[in-house]
Amino acid sequence: MGVSKSDAIVIVGGGAFGLSTALHLSRKGYTNISVFEKDDHIPPRFSAANDLNKIVRAEYEDPFYTDLTIKAIAAWKTPLFAPHFHQTGFLHCVSGAAPKKAAETLQRFRASAERNPQMKLHVVPLEGVEDIRQAAWQLTGQLPGWYGYFNRFDGYAHSGNALAAVYRAAQAEGVRFFLGEQGAVDEIVYVSALTGRKCAGIRTKNGRFHPSALTVVAAGAGVGRLVPQLGTQVVAKSWSVAHVHLTDEETSALRGIPVTYARDLGFFFEPDPKTNLLKLCPMGGGYINTDPKTGVSHAPDTLQESAFLPEDDEKQLRKLLAQTLPTLADRPLVKKSLCWFADTNDSDFIVDYLPNMSSSIIVLSGDSGHGFKMFPIVGSFVTDLLEAPDDKQSVVRWRWKESDPDAGKGDWGGDVSWRLGESKELSAIMPPKASKL
Ligand SMILES: Cc1cc2nc3c(=O)[nH]c(=O)nc-3n(C[C@H](O)[C@H](O)[C@H](O)COP(=O)(O)OP(=O)(O)OC[C@H]3O[C@@H](n4cnc5c(N)ncnc54)[C@H](O)[C@@H]3O)c2cc1C
Repeated sequence: MGVSKSDAIVIVGGGAFGLSTALHLSRKGYTNISVFEKDDHIPPRFSAANDLNKIVRAEYEDPFYTDLTIKAIAAWKTPLFAPHFHQTGFLHCVSGAAPKKAAETLQRFRASAERNPQMKLHVVPLEGVEDIRQAAWQLTGQLPGWYGYFNRFDGYAHSGNALAAVYRAAQAEGVRFFLGEQGAVDEIVYVSALTGRKCAGIRTKNGRFHPSALTVVAAGAGVGRLVPQLGTQVVAKSWSVAHVHLTDEETSALRGIPVTYARDLGFFFEPDPKTNLLKLCPMGGGYINTDPKTGVSHAPDTLQESAFLPEDDEKQLRKLLAQTLPTLADRPLVKKSLCWFADTNDSDFIVDYLPNMSSSIIVLSGDSGHGFKMFPIVGSFVTDLLEAPDDKQSVVRWRWKESDPDAGKGDWGGDVSWRLGESKELSAIMPPKASKL
C-alpha cells in the first residue's frame, strides 16, 4: 500500500474500533490522523461500547478468536488499559429450563476453556447450586437447575471509561478529533482513478470536504449507510440493556461478583461503584430495522427510538434476577435501551479494503456483538493489513465477501450457534409511544 507515514488518514467513527485504530496507527509512526465522530463527546452515545461494561471472555467455539482474546487480555493488563479491566471471573451456566441448544453451546464453550493450556488452570466445573455459591456467595437465589463452569481467567472491562482513556491517549499523541457537527460524516467521496475509482476523502454533514490518502470506516452499526456496497454482508442489529439502581450498601455487597451468565436468561455484571448501576442484558436473536427497499437493516437515526426495553426482555431479566439476586427482582429497571452493533452471518469481523478502490479505503466492521474484548488490539488488525504484501488480507475470514442475495435480510439470529431465538423487526416491538406512527 502506498500510504506514507505523513499522508492524511481519516478514521470514521470514534467508537471501539476507530479509537483503537487511531492509537495503533499513531504508535506505528503515522502522523496525520483524524478521527470523525458524529457525537459531540467520547464515549459517544451511539457507540455500542459507550456504557458501563462488556464481557471479556476468552473461550470461543472457534480457537482463532480464543487465541486473539488471550492476546487481548494480555494487552488489557498493560498500563493504559489495566484500570478498566476487572478479572472477576465468568460464571457461565444454563438454568434447569434451558433449551437443548443453550446447553450444547455451554458445553462447547466449556470444552474450549478446558482445552486451552492457559485457561484450563482457571476453570472450575459447577455441578449445581452449592458449587455456584462457592464461586459467588452473593447469589442467594434458588438457581433452579443451574449448572455450568466458572472461569477465573475472564472478567469484564469498563467500556465507556476505556474509550475515554484511549481518546485522551490518542489526543496526546497528536491524533485530531472532529466531533459533533464537524465530525458527522455524510458521505465517502470517490474520484476516478487509473483502475476504476478511489476514495478521495469524506464530506461531513456541515458540507466540508476532508481529503485523505486512506480512509478507515469504523462506524459500527452505521457502516451500511456509508458503505452501501456492503449489502447484507453486515447488518445493524441490537440487543437490549437495562440497569437496576442500587444503594451504596448493595453495591458494596456485590463487589467482586463474577460476570453471571445463564445462556437462556441473560447476564449481569459487578455493579459500577461510581453510579451504583447494575447492568443487565438478556441477549437473544436481536432486533433489526430492515429497509424494505434494500433488505439491509440500519440503526435508527435517533437515540430516542432505541430508548426502551422490549416487554419480553423485561420478563426475562426479572426471571434472571429472581433466580440469582431475588431482592432485586421487582426493582424498577432504569436506563433501558437497545444497543446497536454490526452483525455478520458468520460472526466474523470484516477488515479489508473495498474492492477496486486502489487500496484507498478500509472497512473495519462486523463486530457481531463480540468485538469489545479486542479493544486494546483491534487497531493492529488495520496496521497489519497496511503492511500486507499486495494489500491482501491474509486472514481469509476477515476478507470482503460479496453480498449473498440468499442471506435474507439479516434475520439469521436463530442460526448463530451462540445465540438463542430469532431476530425480530424493530417495528414489531416498539412501544406505541416510541412508534413513528
Ligand atoms: C448489548 C450489547 C452487548 C455487548 N456485549 C459485548 C460483550 O460482552 N463483549 C464484547 O466483547 N463485545 C460486546 N458487544 C460488542 C461491542 O460493543 C462492539 O463489538 C464494539 O463496540 C464495536 O466497535 P465499533 O467501533 O465497530 O462500533 P461502535 O463502538 O458502535 O462505534 C461506532 C462509532 O461510529 C460512529 N459513527 C457511525 N456513523 C457515523 C458517521 N456517519 N459519522 C461519524 N461517526 C459515525 C458512532 O457514533 C459510534 O461512535 C456488545 C454489543 C452490544 C450492542
